[in-house]
Amino acid sequence: MTEAAVIDGKAFAERLRAGVTRAVAALKADYGVTPGLAVVLVGDDPASAVYVRNKGEQAEAVGMHSVTHRMPAHTSQAELLELVARLNADASIHGILVQMPLPKGLDAEGVIAAIDPAKDVDGLHPLNAGRLSAGLPGLVPCTPVGCMMLLHDHRKDLSGLQAVMVGRSNLMGKPMAQLLLAANCTVTIAHSRTRDLAAVCRTADILVVAVGQPEMVKGDWIKPGAVVLDVGMNRVPSRDPDKAAAGKTRLVGDVDYPAAAAVASRITPVPGGVGPMTIACLLRNTVEACAAARSITLPGLL
Ligand code: NDP
Repeated sequence: MTEAAVIDGKAFAERLRAGVTRAVAALKADYGVTPGLAVVLVGDDPASAVYVRNKGEQAEAVGMHSVTHRMPAHTSQAELLELVARLNADASIHGILVQMPLPKGLDAEGVIAAIDPAKDVDGLHPLNAGRLSAGLPGLVPCTPVGCMMLLHDHRKDLSGLQAVMVGRSNLMGKPMAQLLLAANCTVTIAHSRTRDLAAVCRTADILVVAVGQPEMVKGDWIKPGAVVLDVGMNRVPSRDPDKAAAGKTRLVGDVDYPAAAAVASRITPVPGGVGPMTIACLLRNTVEACAAARSITLPGLL
């Protein structure tokens, strides 16, 4: 068996960002509107701070109006809702993202529900989740959108393929399963209560894994020739014992990459696979939200 082809999410995300940059320039030149993204960070979680900084920098790099609101961990629900209401009413803002997780004591669902669904570029508002499951247009969570782009880049028609989605979060598993269904796959959603997960995974022509368990999916869980998308991002100790003792870590996915790559036909690495697509799709969602707000039809971004 030959080694799987590597799905290069970094290169694809660069292409998508180039398309977003062109669209932003066209919206400015032809309609006098600059897409605006507001990112809200509450508290001082270091990983969230890195994500938020990257989102702001990438939004600026494609020419968007980008604002970041940093609020202390002791922010009250009322203060956060007040900021969301201000951003909802701000005509220069087309996308609002509240970085999750929120500090303890804040009600994430209440905050998500308060975001104007037309500006909900994370696609988490119940209205957008409902529109997705009803097959209606709306804003869809960024990582699943990115995963679908990676799948379609190689194969336009996914009809009839057996797809297994491992994980059922609102952010990833559920919307991804809906998108695969909309693409006419036969979809199984697996989770922590699934019996004989290995056997379920072995049925998949397309296997998408988002569980947050380092290298859980083994090579013999994969059907020969399957396409594997590994969404997981897990920090584990460095292989070098000295570095590990010094607290150095490395990033691994939810799939045992070397073993899986020996069986699959195509696979995303970690890092450099699904990860880079997430922010690129956030920019895409923001530009599309801006165009929709003005009833402008954008040309394709790719
Ligand atoms: P959640 O913790 O919200 O959901 C995890 C899901 O995995 C749950 O549905 C859970 O099942 C299931 N699960 C957990 N353990 C097992 C197991 N042993 N066997 C089967 N299923 C299991 O995580 P997310 O969906 O938000 O994220 C998943 C992973 O993807 C994380 O590593 C995260 O960092 C990464 N991620 C990466 C992104 C990117 O940009 N690349 C974006 C989003 C996430 P149950 O519902 O039964 O508890």
